Amino acid sequence: MKNHGSSMIKVKKRKILLLPGDGIGPEVISEVKKIINWFNDKRSLDFEIDEDLAGGCSYDKHGTPITDEVFYKALESAVIMLGAVGGPKWDGVEFSKKPERALLKLRKELKLFANLRPAICFKQLVDASTLKPEIVSGLDIMIVRELTGGIYFGEPRGIKPIENGERKGINTHIYTSSEIIRVARIAFDLAKKRSNKVTSCEKSNVMEAGQLWKEEVQSLHDKEYKDVELKHMLADNCSMQLLRNPKQFDVIVTDNLFGDMLSDQASMLTGSLGLLPSASLGAKNKDGEMRAMYEPIHGSAPDIAGKGIANPIASILSFAMALRYSLELDKEADTLEKAVQIVLNEGLRTKDILSKGAKEVSTSEMGDAIISKLQ
Ligand code: NAD
Repeated sequence: MKNHGSSMIKVKKRKILLLPGDGIGPEVISEVKKIINWFNDKRSLDFEIDEDLAGGCSYDKHGTPITDEVFYKALESAVIMLGAVGGPKWDGVEFSKKPERALLKLRKELKLFANLRPAICFKQLVDASTLKPEIVSGLDIMIVRELTGGIYFGEPRGIKPIENGERKGINTHIYTSSEIIRVARIAFDLAKKRSNKVTSCEKSNVMEAGQLWKEEVQSLHDKEYKDVELKHMLADNCSMQLLRNPKQFDVIVTDNLFGDMLSDQASMLTGSLGLLPSASLGAKNKDGEMRAMYEPIHGSAPDIAGKGIANPIASILSFAMALRYSLELDKEADTLEKAVQIVLNEGLRTKDILSKGAKEVSTSEMGDAIISKLQ
């Protein structure tokens, strides 16, 4: 793979690579596959589907969480649909071969720098939240997290021995202007298609990198996005405001570390892990091509794997994001999202979101019900 830098491989515009992964991953991605096939059959969209191994299943077969061959396929795909990777089976595997390394490699090598995580509270499921219904009902936030920079990647890093037998752990929080600007641009562009409001979060009161973040976001706003409302907020305050009054937010843009926490917090406002999608976008090249990976925010749920009860909606809505952001098929994305709403309105529920009076359905019945509403 050494000779195949991401810039040398052309992206095939309609190629979708399915990487179902481990645990419930294959169960939920198989519902996505049915939907892609529906679009191919009924709307003649000519998606080219490929499917392969990543994560623990790849380790079991090939001794590595992602092979060069699969990585090559990922490079030439416009869309990667990932299920989930990992599980207790691979707990003892050495760090560099752990299932999660497949994900990190894809994010890093494909330069997927912007992680989009919507936190939507479907009104039909408002009781699933731990917050009062009036606080979360109708909630629709988009968190944009910087994904390839900051303290998770900064150098120097490591654990080093120091004098007197002690050790020190080092991580470096580092951002350049261009890293900040490219992710802020994604947030401003998204806000324009939503409620036109961006909240940028950092810790400019105690961190120089946070101060730079604030300055660069403000300067991009003043140059190119004056028509979008911009607010700066300290990340700790944002965390508090997400619980106090989450509906004040539209798009939140923040760095890798704060984004990791704030997006988890925001997703739990909705109380339903099985419903929330995510997208990780790369930069567009000079031909306008972009690589991107879409995945549910939940993990491989080993506790329910193989039982046919996993909720496929998070994965299906991840595909709706792919239709919108990678495949430029907004109308089809709307159609798919509406089909999910109709099915929820009709009271069909997988076990994780089951409530009184609703009808319990299996993973594949939920997928079929959504397909039946696509017409
Ligand atoms: P998890 O998200 O897999 O599960 C948490 C709980 O939510 C479980 O009770 C599970 O049954 C339930 N759940 C999750 N998704 C569901 C769905 N679609 N339908 C119904 N119920 C659902 O988190 P975890 O248990 O902390 O992690 C399990 C494994 O997944 C670990 O190995 C972890 O490393 C891995 N993981 C992978 C990813 C990823 O691939 N992106 C993300 C998170 C965790």
